Amino acid sequence: MQNFLNLCKSSIGEENVLLNAEQQAPYLQDWRQRATGKALAVLRPATPEQVAQLVKHCAKYQVPIVPQGGNTGLVLGSIPDQSGKAVVLSLQRLNQVRAIDLANSTMTVDAGCLLAQIQNTADEQNLLFPLSLASEGSCTIGGNLSTNAGGTAVLRYGNMRDLCLGLEVITAQGEIWHGLRGLRKDNTGYDLRDLLIGAEGTLGIITGAVLKLYPKPISYGTAFIRLNSIQAAVSLLTLAKQHCHTSICGFEVINQLSLQLVHKHFPQFQKIFTEESPVYVLLELSGSDTEQSTYQQLEQLIASALEAQIIEDAVIANSLTQAKNCWALRESISAAQAKEGKNIKHDISLPISVIADFVAETNLALQQAFPGCRMVTFGHLGDGNLHYNVSPACNADHEQFLSHQNQINRIVHDKTHEYGGSISAEHGIGSLKKDELQRYKSTVELTMMRSIKRALDPQNIMNPGKII
Ligand code: FAD
Repeated sequence: MQNFLNLCKSSIGEENVLLNAEQQAPYLQDWRQRATGKALAVLRPATPEQVAQLVKHCAKYQVPIVPQGGNTGLVLGSIPDQSGKAVVLSLQRLNQVRAIDLANSTMTVDAGCLLAQIQNTADEQNLLFPLSLASEGSCTIGGNLSTNAGGTAVLRYGNMRDLCLGLEVITAQGEIWHGLRGLRKDNTGYDLRDLLIGAEGTLGIITGAVLKLYPKPISYGTAFIRLNSIQAAVSLLTLAKQHCHTSICGFEVINQLSLQLVHKHFPQFQKIFTEESPVYVLLELSGSDTEQSTYQQLEQLIASALEAQIIEDAVIANSLTQAKNCWALRESISAAQAKEGKNIKHDISLPISVIADFVAETNLALQQAFPGCRMVTFGHLGDGNLHYNVSPACNADHEQFLSHQNQINRIVHDKTHEYGGSISAEHGIGSLKKDELQRYKSTVELTMMRSIKRALDPQNIMNPGKII
């Protein structure tokens, strides 16, 4: 392997081929610190041409490649396995905004740009890049594309597939596909862009992208709402769609335990309501009208929902600080849950119409199998996406509870499948959910996926062991 490493050094400089354990460490462990892999080297190219050269070296010596952006992925897709045979190829040094085309409302960027950097660059032009995730200060646009990331504004703007017009990709043979087209219409055969998006680095390495920009909303209206059930939250969503049409940009559901955990572990947050409820909704509207008119639209919606007895109570934020506080509460749920102890996470999506039945039946099945277990259920209800996480009963042994992970996954994922849902709404498959994918995809679908993988990566060097 010394010849291979020498070739890499000659392509990107010795200082960008990381070989010692201390330098490699941050690239080898996943964000939740559940797994640590081993790597032959961590490679840090700075240009698409350098990435292409490195892939050619890897193809020649059959060295597996794990592409990595910000390493915030949640399904163990961005770290290598234990063999020590793979290289981690970090895109972090490809971090320039290449161009902004105001007339076309697009921005062309390197894949290693941080999401927050792209949001800020759009903002400086008085425009919006709408993807928004709690990890936006660390994740990269290449990672967002490769996981087809979702986040909190999908209801209004769609996920990464909807936000990207063109890609630049290094193929498994080390060729550069110059697909940086800024076209909103392009029906010239198979859509390779959409194939590469969400491929988790298993089909090629994304080095650049053309992203869509949107007019920046002029006004926002944010409300925190108390409800008696998930079904009531679904009814509120239907009412909100009737009243506010396209101005709904966020519709997050939070169950009682999720909010209780935030207040328990982050007591600095002021309680919004004096009374508790089984369910809360964080609703955000945005518009191109005045603040006053968006506020009125929200007020009218809340009044109608109260009159129809869909909701119990609501607080409309009357300042940007209050609105930010509502979002901070929502974004602190994962951290609060982590402080509470170990839990078993599920990132599922369902048709919105069946969500209430799904939650009722799955809660019951889990309670019967694991009496006292606690459901921390929250997420992007507007997109049918729930983070349905299961915590052990109070005072239970957390490690022992985790040993039932497969049984718990089976209950949750079987029920998701039965209701026509997906076992991965936005985090992807990685190596964590690979076996689950085999269980729930049809043979026809898996065969097509394997054929694509074999055709584009015949040597199986692109992130092997992930997805399929
Ligand atoms: P990485 O973790 O580095 O990689 C993810 C996958 O993409 C890996 O398979 C990797 O091999 C591949 N990859 C990375 N870069 C490239 C590239 N340039 N070319 C080819 N393959 C590549 N996700 C959501 O969708 N919605 C959320 O709301 C959300 N919230 C989160 C909140 C927190 C606190 C955290 C920690 C994570 C959250 N995530 C969320 C998950 C994660 O942030 C996203 O999956 C993100 O898109 C990953 O970007 P990254 O740059 O960190 O990618």
